[in-house]
Amino acid sequence: MSGLAPIQIPGSSLPRRRVLVVNCYFDYSREPIRRPTKFPQAVGPIFLAGAFARELCEVRCYDEVSSGPLTDEALLGWPDMLVLTGLTHCFDRMLHLTAYARTRNPKVIVVAGGPAVRALPLLAKKFFDYACPGDIEELREVITDAWGEAYAAAQMLPRFDLGYWIRFISHVESTRYCNFHCSFCSLTGEGRAYQTYDLEHLRRQILAAGKRRKLLFVDNNFYGNDREHFRRRIGLIQELRAAGQFRNWAALVTNDFFTRPENLALARDSGCELLFSGVESFDSSWLRSVNKLQNTSAPQIEMIRRCLNAGIVFCYGLMLDLSTRTIADVRRELELITGTPEITLPAFITLSIPILGTPYFYECLNNRTMLPNTKLRDMDGITIVQQTLDPIDQAVEFVRGVEHFRGLRSRVIKHSVRFWKLYRSKLNPLQLAIGFEQGLLLSAHTLMTSTTAFGWMKKGRTRTYVSTTEPADQTYTPAFRVDSRFQQYFQPTMVTDRNGNLANELIDSGLLKREPPRIGQRAGASA
Ligand code: SF4
Repeated sequence: MSGLAPIQIPGSSLPRRRVLVVNCYFDYSREPIRRPTKFPQAVGPIFLAGAFARELCEVRCYDEVSSGPLTDEALLGWPDMLVLTGLTHCFDRMLHLTAYARTRNPKVIVVAGGPAVRALPLLAKKFFDYACPGDIEELREVITDAWGEAYAAAQMLPRFDLGYWIRFISHVESTRYCNFHCSFCSLTGEGRAYQTYDLEHLRRQILAAGKRRKLLFVDNNFYGNDREHFRRRIGLIQELRAAGQFRNWAALVTNDFFTRPENLALARDSGCELLFSGVESFDSSWLRSVNKLQNTSAPQIEMIRRCLNAGIVFCYGLMLDLSTRTIADVRRELELITGTPEITLPAFITLSIPILGTPYFYECLNNRTMLPNTKLRDMDGITIVQQTLDPIDQAVEFVRGVEHFRGLRSRVIKHSVRFWKLYRSKLNPLQLAIGFEQGLLLSAHTLMTSTTAFGWMKKGRTRTYVSTTEPADQTYTPAFRVDSRFQQYFQPTMVTDRNGNLANELIDSGLLKREPPRIGQRAGASA
């Protein structure tokens, strides 16, 4: 389809343009699989799609998390502009799609943004026509520069109509960034101030999503440090809920939300069904070491219990840092969790990741804890990328087992039964199912979320779980012939060299030209 003349719009002298927006993704299984039930779902593409004028642009979106790697030659050759976003470790996937699209349509304009581009601005400039370090609104400037202002939407509203992977839940954003500064978080690395949206803009987002049963706020921190704005948002939620726009809602909040009991009552009375908060660990000294101080001001088990007793299901993730904690210590923590039916089980478990540009990354770099030959792609939370306190082979065995909760499954089952007995009168069937599902997912993680995992098992592919030795994914082999000029786009971007020093390509990437972010006091937090 490449090389086709732009479509002319009847009655307009301007040609219509084609745009493809892709959420790029490497799956942690390292296999080309789909995860259509992964939650929360990607919303970047539908917000970016909102930057294009509807009457002049035909926009399509593709989500590699739910649909698997994009290898459709016709689709890759279709757009006049390819817009790419994704998590930091998915930078190479952006390069793959750029190579495909340029092979199929040499005139395509490639625009890339998101945390990877912000972390590696100079490296990104070498590959993309536009490497955007700013917010999603920067895309309007790119469109204006490339095609003229007429092609940019006057007002950016998310294109829920293009988000084929988001079926039942409206995803909206009421704030941006975070007022805390955890040392491992990419938001801390980017150093942007917490922002609240104008309430009318939020109203328009919710209305644009249409009437759906559930509403999810995808904010990094729905609570934030502006109490008045928080109460006004709850007021808007109550108004739109009463009008039948949605029935229940969910959000991501920081631990300080729970220190004021009235917040739980406000949330529950306005239809809140689920809250996600980054617990990361129940170990206070580790939390302090990563500047997650907001999680140390009140006992976390009590916090989760209160949330559940208020009728709101509590979800959280757990971060296992084997570079500063022993396996025995981490195992004790997992036993504490599975032995406490008053709390939910974690929704996911990740290894600590020195995300590029974060204070934690610079700390690991200075301490030389990163393993040799670590690829950016390895920073997915399931590959060991740092030296471990215990011998590495024991760490590998532990990680291999923890992915499936090996050795803890009977505790998980007992936990789930006791959890159900404790909360069956306080949580609705869906909330109880979420509590159960977390246990099931932990017990059978890959199988529960993958449609092709059995094929992977049949092939008997074994992983090393160590960045130095872990081979690159299948997706590093081009799915179809690409122009020889783009062969290098399939070489993994390295973080460290064979001696464990920062790789040359990262030295020139712009990463070290930034002032390493300092961990200061919490910015304006009230808790
Ligand atoms: S609380 Fe910490 S981890 Fe969570 S968004 Fe804020 S800075 Fe990031």
